[in-house]
Amino acid sequence: FFRTLEQSGLTLNKPQLEAVRHHTGPLLTLAGAGSGKTSVLICRTGYLLAVHGIPASAILLLTFSTKAAAEMRERIARLPGLNASAVHQLQARTFHSFFLQLIRRHGNQLDIFHETRRQHILLKQIMRELGLQQDAYQPETLLALLSSYKMNLVGLDELPEATDGEKEIKRIFARYEDWKQENGKIDFDDVLLSAYRLLKQQSDLLRSLQTRFQYVMIDEFQDTNHLQYELIRMIAEPRQNLMVVGDDDQTIYSFNGARSEFILHFEKRYPSAKVITLDINYRSTTAIVGLGNEIIRHNKERRPKTLQATKESAVKPQYMRPHTADDEADQIITRILQEVQQGTRTYGDFAILYRSSSNNRAILEQLVLKGIPHIDFGDGQLLYEHWLVKPVVDHLRLSLNRRNFDAMESILPSLYLNREKGMAIIRAKEAIRPKKGPLVHLLSLPELKDYQKDKITDRLALIKSFVTMKPAQAIIHIRKTFYDAYSEASERHKLTLHKEMLKELLDELEASAARFDTVEAFIAFIDDVVAKNSDNTRQKLQEQGNRIALMTIHRSKGLEFPVVCLIGASDGSLPHSSALDTDRMKDVFTRTGSRPISSVALEEERRLAYVAVTRAREELFISSPSQYRGKKAAISQFVLAAFQQAAGPSASPKSVHTKTGRHISSPGSKPAGETETVLAWVCTSPPCIAWTRIDPYKEAHLTSKPCPLCKSAMEKGSKAVPV
Ligand code: ATP
Ligand code: MG
Repeated sequence: FFRTLEQSGLTLNKPQLEAVRHHTGPLLTLAGAGSGKTSVLICRTGYLLAVHGIPASAILLLTFSTKAAAEMRERIARLPGLNASAVHQLQARTFHSFFLQLIRRHGNQLDIFHETRRQHILLKQIMRELGLQQDAYQPETLLALLSSYKMNLVGLDELPEATDGEKEIKRIFARYEDWKQENGKIDFDDVLLSAYRLLKQQSDLLRSLQTRFQYVMIDEFQDTNHLQYELIRMIAEPRQNLMVVGDDDQTIYSFNGARSEFILHFEKRYPSAKVITLDINYRSTTAIVGLGNEIIRHNKERRPKTLQATKESAVKPQYMRPHTADDEADQIITRILQEVQQGTRTYGDFAILYRSSSNNRAILEQLVLKGIPHIDFGDGQLLYEHWLVKPVVDHLRLSLNRRNFDAMESILPSLYLNREKGMAIIRAKEAIRPKKGPLVHLLSLPELKDYQKDKITDRLALIKSFVTMKPAQAIIHIRKTFYDAYSEASERHKLTLHKEMLKELLDELEASAARFDTVEAFIAFIDDVVAKNSDNTRQKLQEQGNRIALMTIHRSKGLEFPVVCLIGASDGSLPHSSALDTDRMKDVFTRTGSRPISSVALEEERRLAYVAVTRAREELFISSPSQYRGKKAAISQFVLAAFQQAAGPSASPKSVHTKTGRHISSPGSKPAGETETVLAWVCTSPPCIAWTRIDPYKEAHLTSKPCPLCKSAMEKGSKAVPV
């Protein structure tokens, strides 16, 4: 088996071989990115099939994303000497698909209820029924909270009831669960929970699974939550042929209840477990591995690991400091096009990664407009079509054409009016007496209270006033008028997750609009990009395979690409502002009981940065716009040192005075009102100071010549102190 594997080009190292050959009993492999954890699972599967003659149906391989599961199946199928039909019987699945099939086979035919928008509507309806204000709690936050209770196996009857808020939330959840039951629906979380209950109740079924699956293997173990862990453990008993592989530095689903403590727990629960560490990175070049190590070593909560690279670097990671996200998109696309035209790369070699899905607006837009083959692994939706953003855009559309019926329908909910009912009235009245602005018809609704009529009149006036405004200004007015009021309601309860998302989307919309002078030009641009996006959908299907991949860092877990462009590496975006603004999040985290408390949030962001850079095989571009959604943004603290180093000593100081070894009068002139960061390695005797001055808003990295002592401190990686 190993000889044919070598012939096919894969020579495993000693610990990898040991893991692949491991036959029975629990095994834990904890190792850094790109060290071959997934490869070991794949080879072990092949080894069990080819050498031990284990039937394919007796092996269960679980991972998290559909893409990772599909890749696993493909890689197993490519192993030399395996019988294709046997491989077909193998269960290499995501947790969800495996357990969904299980409950389906055992009588649960309930509909999957997963469309977020419908879940939100239902929750709002429930709040109304319970006499709560429609916007008392944000549905997004409620769903996240409910999910975290379920993943931690906390039953509805165990929910806290200490405050009025908690009592209300409990009532909402109870009603939500009842509704699903009455209407024959389950959501994604219920799939795992139902499977758990099924296996607890039907011992015969559990026993048959235990008999069937002689070998259980889990990839990305660091991201399992409590419920998933329990499910795995149940199935792997009593043989305990359970192999888990993971990397605590890549735990990025804490918000979903993932706990790297399960890794520790694993060793306690299975004291006989074999532990194998892998410390050679085969994926990335030395420079990329070095950067990854440098980022992650600042986390306190981690197991120290060493990770050595095998591939020499042809090129060093490259850093960019564009002005805005639009400039960033422009520069990255230019580079990609250059490489593709020169024939050194194909589109399929590139992945563009970002922290939040709303970060891809500029780049997605340009790819669409230029007709460059790409695939967005998110929902592929343009910002302007997002259900929370579209009503805002439609306000602008209405200001240009007050007879735009689609836009009218879209803004009705923001006036707290029912879409169907509102439109039926407008159309009926239009048939009798057409108006220039048909929205006026709403004023004659008999059941409307005076304050509601005032609201409609104000809105009509607002829309009219846009004619003289720049689009960004108009958006600010729309936000002030109803979106801020809408999100203030949630402030009372400090449930801010949803508000955060809404704010991000609208900030991004504003940043996009700021490029245009008139509402007309902005809407014409939006219509163009929306139309081209739907044309491109067809083209995308034809170009399967050779296209630029766009995805959030979360989605990129476990994957690798020849070239990775990490965009939006600025403070506020990565780390995300929510992790920086710790006090505000603390309340939410404390409420959920199962989430990381705020102090841990920054470490999770750092792990995200680590996951992002370690996806790159050969080349890595890191870009940090100096303006993030209209505001000045510093280079991400995770890559700041690397940025500085790459910039190198570029200018000699005009004057450096040291006073008591702690004060620097900075060289050059500082524009009025601008702040600057000066990092310094200070040695007191003899008085000397080596410093690096970073002006985050210009591409200026000035470094002084260090004295030998400072130099050795810097080389040893001692931290510079801000002065
Ligand atoms: P991650 O932590 O990102 O999930 P991983 O530990 O699962 O990474 P793999 O994806 O299994 O790592 O492997 C990374 C790359 O290294 C793959 O391209 C794989 O083919 C290659 N690789 C793994 N082991 C070896 C080896 N012994 N020799 C050469 N290449 C290897
Ligand atoms: Mg992997």
